[in-house]
Amino acid sequence: MCKSLDEIIDALRSFVGSFDVQRLPAQQAMHVVRQFGEIERLTAAGRTLAADRVQNTRAWRATGSASAAAWIARETGSTLSQASAALNNAQRLKQLPATREAFLSGQLSEAQTTEITTAAVMDHSAEASLLDLAGRESVSALRERCRDVRAAAVGDEDVSERIRRGRYLRHWLDRDGAMRMDIRMAPDDGAPLLVVIKSRQEKIQREARRAGQLEEPEAYAADALLSLADGAGAPKAVVHVHVSEASLERGHTIAGETCRVDGVAPITVTAAQRLAGRGVVKLIQKEGVEVQRVAHVGRVIPAHLRTALEERDPTCVVPGCDRRFGLEIDHIVPFASGGPTRLENLARLCRWHHSQKTHHGWRLYGGPGAWEWTRGARKVRSAAPLTSGRNDHPPPSRGG
Ligand SMILES: [Zn+2]
Repeated sequence: MCKSLDEIIDALRSFVGSFDVQRLPAQQAMHVVRQFGEIERLTAAGRTLAADRVQNTRAWRATGSASAAAWIARETGSTLSQASAALNNAQRLKQLPATREAFLSGQLSEAQTTEITTAAVMDHSAEASLLDLAGRESVSALRERCRDVRAAAVGDEDVSERIRRGRYLRHWLDRDGAMRMDIRMAPDDGAPLLVVIKSRQEKIQREARRAGQLEEPEAYAADALLSLADGAGAPKAVVHVHVSEASLERGHTIAGETCRVDGVAPITVTAAQRLAGRGVVKLIQKEGVEVQRVAHVGRVIPAHLRTALEERDPTCVVPGCDRRFGLEIDHIVPFASGGPTRLENLARLCRWHHSQKTHHGWRLYGGPGAWEWTRGARKVRSAAPLTSGRNDHPPPSRGG
């Protein structure tokens, strides 16, 4: 099967590569567009089935990816949300044989299939009419109809609750480098937030008008949202952790020692180290009841190093991982093993990869532009042989 797919890919590549569009008659060009549309639909169907298989077999776990969707996104050059949408689609198709058949025979695009499955899983009796509509009407007409089917399938109360369970706030940098946000929340939750933003927006707009400026209302709405962040007197949340230097260096506590967050239950030393890596923690060492000193122990990253790291590692350094938010600072050679708090021994990792390194034997080697992420020992490149395949501490990093 895979061999014939390879042949198809080769055939397509050589066709597109020698495609002489200038000589193509208009009628034939239209036909070719339809044909490529069909190829795309069939490709989407095949990819969806295979992706579902990858998820079910958990084969992606061996790749170091954070999830099946993350692996698919990386392999296919799509976004994480597109990849998870495809996986969800595959799940729903199992309940909807007629839609599945239409998708697999190349009659439905991925977008059409997603619309139909999200509506038809909630009301199976609507499946046939939606499939019929997809064959006659535009995707946006289909989308309208599917929205109606979904709304009719649940009561108003349920809608709000269901949306609340799926609430999120996502942010990312777009191609221009602009910060973008996408918030999804129940309307009754969003309303009070909007009220606050609106009232601030009007105030800002009035002031702007008095100053002779006139920008779009939505620009002032963005200013209003920003104003929530400053001025409101919200201090940076600093977490106080009580832990002894000995346990911090050991990596865990022994009988008689404590590691806990101020006013909260005990936490693990690893959790304390992780908090410290995010720079929102003050480590407080206690002897008896007296606070000896607020520790700026070695593993606490000084501000200038933090800035240099943010500059050097804008994303998680693991090759192929492009997470850029909530990154944690990792000591490449662990602090507890004598790894220094110096730029060359530090790297920024996403939470997932940090935990893979701390708890699951994954290791980071190399340096900026040449990071290697591997499980266990390094692929031997230098003359130095590794004595064991399972070394708990990696060799010192270059120059560290
Ligand atoms: Zn990562």
